[in-house]
Amino acid sequence: MNHWLANSRRNLLPRSVAACFETALAEWLFTGRVIVYAESRGIRCELCEHPHLSHHYEISNDRTGHALLVGSRCILKFADIRVLDGEGRAITEYAQRRRHLREALKVELRQRALAPLRELWQLDRHNRAEIERAAERLETGRGVSPATLSLVFAEMERRGIEYEPHLYKITLRDASSHRELMAMPQAERELIRPALSNEQLRRYARLFEE
Ligand SMILES: [Zn+2]
Repeated sequence: MNHWLANSRRNLLPRSVAACFETALAEWLFTGRVIVYAESRGIRCELCEHPHLSHHYEISNDRTGHALLVGSRCILKFADIRVLDGEGRAITEYAQRRRHLREALKVELRQRALAPLRELWQLDRHNRAEIERAAERLETGRGVSPATLSLVFAEMERRGIEYEPHLYKITLRDASSHRELMAMPQAERELIRPALSNEQLRRYARLFEE
């Protein structure tokens, strides 16, 4: 038996009712909870013990009350672990299960980007309308213009609000946001740089050369 399977059995069976691994797997359910870590060092899958995970997915067993924080790969490999859709039906197809887990991660990442914005909204009465617009766009998966993002980042820095710049999405599709980026002082550009996608960075590489 390979290492990965042996670890998984050892971790799952004592927390399940069934004594047979395959049957025990079916007692487990993805709860929908995803935990994102800023640093992957020391983060292991509690099922197979695979190290260096950047996020955890929670699975739980109703019959024993146990929960485990695992990697998405384990949920996908062990197809008997249930993943439910919005109506509570089990998703059985591999690609659909994968899509569902990715979507759950995306929702969590979005929440992590929105939480500091909400904090800023409370404190910064002057820029509320702009903060609100930015939050609305991010909430619906759209990007924020370079000038708005730079304003929001600068205000969060000034007030000591912790945020993860790479979690924010920037839009550079329309002419006005392109112009904003071109006209931006270097210091502001550096502030929003972590929010640019690799593709955007490639396209605007010239602007970011030191
Ligand atoms: Zn695992």
